[in-house]
Parts: sequence; structure tokens; C-alpha cells
Amino acid sequence: MKLKDIYNQDKTPVISYEVFPPKDDTDGEKLENLFEELNKLLVFKPSLISVTYGAGGSNRNESVEIIKRIKEELKITPMPHFTCVSTSTKNIREYLKTLESFDIENILALRGDMPQDGNVCHDFKHADELVQYIKDNTNLSVAIAGYPEGHKECESFEKDMLYLKQKADKGADVIYTQMFFNTEHYFSFVEKCLKLGINQTVIPGVLPVSSYNQILKMADMCKVEIPSKMREILEKHQDDKDYTKKYGIEYASIQCQKLLQNGAKGLHFYTLNKAHAVSEILQNIL
Ligand code: FAD
Repeated sequence: MKLKDIYNQDKTPVISYEVFPPKDDTDGEKLENLFEELNKLLVFKPSLISVTYGAGGSNRNESVEIIKRIKEELKITPMPHFTCVSTSTKNIREYLKTLESFDIENILALRGDMPQDGNVCHDFKHADELVQYIKDNTNLSVAIAGYPEGHKECESFEKDMLYLKQKADKGADVIYTQMFFNTEHYFSFVEKCLKLGINQTVIPGVLPVSSYNQILKMADMCKVEIPSKMREILEKHQDDKDYTKKYGIEYASIQCQKLLQNGAKGLHFYTLNKAHAVSEILQNIL
């Protein structure tokens, strides 16, 4: 099913999950674990499962394998992510053909993080060019990334929003956001999108916190605010893993309720390949 049809259904909320290809999985055990976890989440009737793409295509084959299994075994619509920053037009064309040969209908078009080794291919500088290329050359429905607190590299939030508008106008159907812990950032982002005429569905990305150190690192990397009360609690209980996980589930459940009450059409969960937290949250809110 294409993104537009998924988000035009009467069904609310539209549930979706993000997973990533497991690293160092020579015997395939981690991949089997991932599918066990995904099977536990099917009970919530997800409409879509997205699969991340490693910088520079480092896990391309694994991504394709997972995408095929999501479609064939789980019978759920898969959405591959794709990054263009260090890939040539030729590679992009081939990859898109591969996806279309498996009847994949959707893609999340990204620039990707700038490689630290400087290995940049200049065919595509920003995600908007990739969106344009996909629209010109395939029938895929395209999603893009949005940043409620601004993208980490951008000099100003206003400029970032103008670039988002440019990217959306190239033919995107849906915007999936980066994680956020201050839910007000999401609401202002949606408001700003509407003001700028960005009328695509904006789906909030939800990350249940499970470790203090991990969240500090991720928030720092993505330039995302951790509200002071949340930081205080997580810091105080940082050595108590069970407490932290329970708190993360409670926090995300409240966040999700607030998002849905205020009009979010769906929830996109960053599962980190684990079912437990997402499953608890969905049981709390549905
Ligand atoms: P762009 O939209 O190109 O924006 C990048 C920066 O350039 C921004 O600061 C923007 O303001 C600026 N900009 C945009 N257009 C222009 C322009 N025309 N001229 C000048 N400046 C411009 N990374 C992965 O490697 N693999 C993944 O699978 C992956 N999945 C993701 C999923 C989601 C939902 C999100 C939110 C992020 C994901 N990322 C992933 C991270 C993403 O690749 C990085 O955030 C990356 O740095 C930016 O990608 P983008 O597509 O948003 O880039």
C-alpha cells in the first residue's frame, strides 16, 4: 500500500515501526531475533515497518533481505530508508530498480550524515534532489525526514524549515520526524509546517528511553532537548536499569497520548529492534 493510502485510511492511529539491520550477525541469529521481536508487535496491527540504511550503503544487502521478509513473511508494507550522500547516480538507479523489482511501493529519501572520512559523492547534495530523482524515475511514494528542533547542521530553524518546504514540494507524501522529548517542539513544528504551506502528513517519531547514557549520547548527536525534569530523574536512577526502562515507557505513553489527542494521525516507533517497550506503550494507549 502506498503512503498516501496508508495515511488516508479512517483508521487512527496509524502505527509504524522502525528497525535496523543487526550488526555483526554472521550466523544470522540476530536477524532471527529481530523477526521474533517484530512478530510480538504484529498484534497492534502496524501499517508499515521501515528499515534503516547504513551510511554509504554499508548494510544494503541486509536491508534488502529484511525488506523482503517484512513483505513476504509478515505481510506488512515495508519502507526502505535510502541515503544519497556518498552514492553515485548509477548506484541509486540500480538500487531503486532492485526495490521496484520486489514491488516495494514506498521509500524514505534521505541525504544521510556527512561521512567523517570525507567520502562524499557530489551527484546528490541534499535530500530534495533525491526526492526529485525518485519522483522523475520511479512510481515510489516518497517520505522525508523532518526535525522539530531543527537539523543539527542548520544555522537556523527558519532556514531549516525553508529547506524542508523545498524538499516537501518535490513530491513527498509524508514527513517522519526525528525523536523529541519535549512534545511542544512537535506541536510548534506542525504549526510552522502549516504556516509555510507544508501540507504533508507529519508523523511523530517516538523513542522510548531505556538508558540514561544512551539517551544523553543520542540527544547530543541529534541536538535534541532533554527536558530538565526528565534529565534529573534519569540521572538520579541511572544505575537502576529496570526503573529507567519503566520510566521510559511511562514517559513515552504520556507523550503518545498527548500527540494523538492533539491530532497526530499516527505514531512511528524507533524500536531499536526490541518489542518490549513499544508493546507496553501501545497497551497503555490503545
Ligand atoms: P537534508 O534534507 O538534505 O538536510 C540536511 C541539512 O542540509 C539540513 O541542515 C538542511 O537544513 C540543509 N539543507 C537541505 N536542503 C538544502 C539545500 N538545498 N541547500 C542548503 N542546505 C540544505 N540516516 C541514515 O544514515 N540512515 C537512515 O536510515 C536514517 N533514517 C532516518 C530516519 C528519520 C525519520 C530521520 C529523522 C533521520 C534519519 N537518518 C538516517 C538521519 C539523517 O540521514 C540525517 O539527519 C542527515 O544528516 C540529514 O538527512 P536529511 O535527509 O534530513 O537531509
